[in-house]
Amino acid sequence: MVKIVVLVDDKSFDQRLKVAHGLSLYLEFNDIYLLFDLGPNSEILQYNVEKLGIDVELVDATIISHIHSTHIGGLSYIGWVSPYLKVYIPYDSMHSLGRMARSNGLIPEEVIDWINPWPGIYISKPIHGPPWEHFLVIDTSRGLIVFSGCMHPGVDKVLDIITGYLDRNIYGVVGGFHLENAPRSIIDKTIHVLFEKYCVEKIAPLHCSGELFKRVINENYPDRIIEAGAGSILDIG
Ligand SMILES: [Zn+2]
Ligand SMILES: [Zn+2]
Repeated sequence: MVKIVVLVDDKSFDQRLKVAHGLSLYLEFNDIYLLFDLGPNSEILQYNVEKLGIDVELVDATIISHIHSTHIGGLSYIGWVSPYLKVYIPYDSMHSLGRMARSNGLIPEEVIDWINPWPGIYISKPIHGPPWEHFLVIDTSRGLIVFSGCMHPGVDKVLDIITGYLDRNIYGVVGGFHLENAPRSIIDKTIHVLFEKYCVEKIAPLHCSGELFKRVINENYPDRIIEAGAGSILDIG
């Protein structure tokens, strides 16, 4: 079972929290605590973390999925509360994001291939969107749960690479799907790939997933969508 707390999102389900275009998740799995992406800026990340009472200083590592500003903004806050924390950064970003992480007291590690830092926790190899993006994958008793920043390479390519490497069913996908301005045909194709090709059982679309994408899933697969936003606490897997 993975516990997920949505720290920053384009939508909020908790009136105390601030909303912003961006994504940040806090995750707990087998006594490992992780941050996945850091939202668009430190102020909003700190504000929401404090309102939600999350102990960020206990986090074991931060994973930054890709270099877009809406996912990397909270670096200085994390460096301040948790100096020397390891931050997994995207392929080919050592001279930009890596420097920024180091100047904030963090320890960047560039993702150049699959990594298995703790039992059951994987970071995928870099997949080109553009930009380069990697995915956090947690192996639960019900199957794999995939965490996506924006899903820039497309869900078919990403799930094909993940199932090719880990050879297990995909139980859930959580995060951005980057379909905000996508035509209906792309949305229908994505939904087909998720639910018919890979038989994904639960998805929690966040950030840039788009309202139309969520509406079409709600109409066709209402038991497979988890509506979430900042402040949502999900236990899945
Ligand atoms: Zn992005
Ligand atoms: Zn996006």
